[in-house]
Amino acid sequence: MQIQLPDEFLSTEKGQTANNILRRCVHCGFCNATCPTYQLQNDELDSPRGRIYLIKQLLEGQTDGDIAREHLDRCLTCRSCETTCPSGVEYNRLLDIGRERVESLGKRPLSERLLRWLLLQSVPFPKRFAVGASMARRVPFLLPKVLRKAIPPRAAAVDQWPAARHARRVLLLDGCVQSVAAPEINLATARVLDNLDMSAIQIPDGGCCGALNQHLSSAESAAVFMRRNIDTWWPYLEGSDRVEAIVSTASACGLQVKDYAHYLRLDKQYAEKAAKISGLVKDVSELLAAEPVADVISVVGSQARIAFHAPCTLQHGQRLTGVVESILTQCEFELVTVKDGHLCCGAAGTYSIFQPVLSEQLQANKLATLQAGSPTAIASANIGCLLHLRQDAVVPVKHWIELLADCLTS
Ligand code: SF4
Ligand code: SF4
Repeated sequence: MQIQLPDEFLSTEKGQTANNILRRCVHCGFCNATCPTYQLQNDELDSPRGRIYLIKQLLEGQTDGDIAREHLDRCLTCRSCETTCPSGVEYNRLLDIGRERVESLGKRPLSERLLRWLLLQSVPFPKRFAVGASMARRVPFLLPKVLRKAIPPRAAAVDQWPAARHARRVLLLDGCVQSVAAPEINLATARVLDNLDMSAIQIPDGGCCGALNQHLSSAESAAVFMRRNIDTWWPYLEGSDRVEAIVSTASACGLQVKDYAHYLRLDKQYAEKAAKISGLVKDVSELLAAEPVADVISVVGSQARIAFHAPCTLQHGQRLTGVVESILTQCEFELVTVKDGHLCCGAAGTYSIFQPVLSEQLQANKLATLQAGSPTAIASANIGCLLHLRQDAVVPVKHWIELLADCLTS
């Protein structure tokens, strides 16, 4: 493929990045076989290879911004294509650059801009999100169907957090949506860690990792969240009682924090700190993989048959394939076989709101494969997937760490 990016763009860091990524792609099309949107649409422009070509044309100034936007919007950012690609094409980085260019080429329709604004002003702020969700639950009939489906149910009351009594300490990220919709997940984590002689430290007024803003192509506001988090977390990384890791129970948030080093690489004031933070963050499964979890768990038969849905952000983004499954198996949960485990469930951040038709198809397909083996419960590792699958699942859908907490021996 001939690539002729304009010299002005090529002289920038982004231009160089785009050029390098584009040159790696050999157009073999292996990635198309594992792309959820290509499977549903059967349109080359809704495949990774097609989107890479679209972005190339976009950056060369050869294509209409509206056409590119339509097909880039349909991309789930699931990164299944990256896992499949034999050439190591960093599709996600190229997509970020393509989306940024699309946004600069023209305004979206007013209704879409309003919805994006509403989400950016509410979801990343736990207090605002809690108030908004509570109001929405009272008058769901006033909301469009896509938002009605997305309202999280009222969260269950949570028990007391274990006292910070251990020498081993980790910082446990609260997140925005999860802290409102499912605070029981982090409480379960704190209890499991407490049984393993580790204390989970909560941060007062924790907040969004910046992923939502990043996914809605609002890179500047995402960077504001990232810098704020670095300032908030930094004191916990210093001193004699510093934490050994920053732990996330939402794989999308964990992936975003692992990417702080990349997003803030050109920020003279924060680049170094961002790199340290990215090196310290772990998905809770990474932390527990090295711990004797099975020693503190006793599974009873009726709880044991589980279908695990690996979020895209865990398996394709963080490349933590099989880690949760291994922990659950060691703890003697029975894992049912799930077909097409590499495919996205359709949650994908705000995808279910902006692409409801494709999202619902993916959700239905995913639930069919998860429930085919008659599990007693579905487990996952990301709040977005959990809330999305819960909407229509016929068995309980839980975070896998809750399964462990339910079976603690003390
Ligand atoms: S992204 Fe990778 S798998 Fe897809 S066409 Fe390019 S080289 Fe092939
Ligand atoms: S990120 Fe997912 S939806 Fe987007 S092109 Fe890659 S495989 Fe397809």
